[in-house]
Amino acid sequence: MIRRAVGLLLLMGLASSWGWIRDSAPATLLGALLGALTWLAFDSVRAYRFLNWLGKADLDRTPRLSGLWGELTDRSRKLVKKLEKKAQNSDDRLEDFLAAIQASPNGVVLLDASSRIEWCNLTAAQHLGFDPQRDLGQYVRNMVRHPVFTAYMEAGDFRHEIQFDGPGQRPSQPSKISLQIHPYGKKRRLMMTRDVTAVQLAEAMRRDFVANVSHEIRTPLTVLSGFVETMQSIPLEEEDRQRYLGLMSQQAQRMQTLVSDLLTLSRLEGSPAPGPGEWVDATELAQHVVQEAIGLSAAIARPVHAVALEPGPRFWVSGVKTELLSAMSNLLSNAVRYTPAGGSIRAGWRLLDDGTGEFFVRDSGPGIAAEHLPRLTERFYRVDRSRSRETGGTGLGLAIVKHVTQRHGGQVQVQSVVGEGSTFVISLPPSRVRQHAIG
Ligand code: ADP
Repeated sequence: MIRRAVGLLLLMGLASSWGWIRDSAPATLLGALLGALTWLAFDSVRAYRFLNWLGKADLDRTPRLSGLWGELTDRSRKLVKKLEKKAQNSDDRLEDFLAAIQASPNGVVLLDASSRIEWCNLTAAQHLGFDPQRDLGQYVRNMVRHPVFTAYMEAGDFRHEIQFDGPGQRPSQPSKISLQIHPYGKKRRLMMTRDVTAVQLAEAMRRDFVANVSHEIRTPLTVLSGFVETMQSIPLEEEDRQRYLGLMSQQAQRMQTLVSDLLTLSRLEGSPAPGPGEWVDATELAQHVVQEAIGLSAAIARPVHAVALEPGPRFWVSGVKTELLSAMSNLLSNAVRYTPAGGSIRAGWRLLDDGTGEFFVRDSGPGIAAEHLPRLTERFYRVDRSRSRETGGTGLGLAIVKHVTQRHGGQVQVQSVVGEGSTFVISLPPSRVRQHAIG
């Protein structure tokens, strides 16, 4: 400030010196006035340059000014730089924040006070069928036209979530979307969505499973309690008594098998997949289950089946012996139970070129129609219900086979033609197969 005052006075003094030399008071005054005006003009130009630059705040084109204007320019430049950095930091944080919301498995939609879409992440766009760019600014009611959603918006009670059908991957398979609105700020709303298709499917499967188990247990229980009542109320001949007891024992056995299969399944589901620890002789396993099948055929079929082990290469497979035996024996027991008496059943191991080990069971039974094949390994799925019951089937055998095989990294395949028999194959990956003994 002092420098400015000194500059002004100097210019005024210089301009008035002409009048002072001539000893004329009006000329001195006029000179001083002219000096002051000149200083003001220069100062205004500098002020204009400063204000002009400040309006654009272009850091690359800072005007070169001295004195107070220079100082002002310098300080303003630093301030603008600081503000720009702050704005950049805020932008970066906003970007990070939005990227985090984009990555969320939940859908997020921000609605303004008039319920127009301000922003939404890709997940929400998928759940609700929006276009995340084009539909910004649209009224959400126009975009989500499900009656459940319309009623939710009209009621304005957002304490609970709603569920409705979303677009889904195919029109025949709509997804189930759960949606809840959370009000925030000044009449703004946060709308969150979740895809609950899998949860609902799991819940439906759980309900079906409980219903199936109850049904499977109720049937033998009803028969059993019927016999008990009869034996309690009617005096029976010894022969009838023995017959009734035999039938009761059959029903008790049926329940026992069912419970045992259920426990096996739950153990398979609840335990970690077996490591490649134990190596077992594949041929020994096959011999064991084929012997069992010969015994089963002798017990239930007249004439017995021609059950044979097909010769194959010698190799070892790694896994849990009891689980592998249970899967293999389930396939053989099915072959015996579903192939008419006297039919032929052949089982064995073969080794593919890529090192995959395959255990196959081929029978000359009735075969299975193609539409049943994809569902065979579902729990309680039966093609021939009465034959399954007659022969003590639980409907869980192939589910156990599938679980055991998958736990060992393999898969189950079925080839079957109605009237020409079936072939069931368990294939184990090369990592679980060795052609030389270990240890
Ligand atoms: P189940 O205890 O009823 O035999 P599984 O899960 O073992 O149950 O088999 C499911 C269904 O697949 C059976 O009910 C039967 O209808 C059919 N099935 C299985 N193996 C054979 C086979 N070798 N030949 C014909 N049908 C079979």
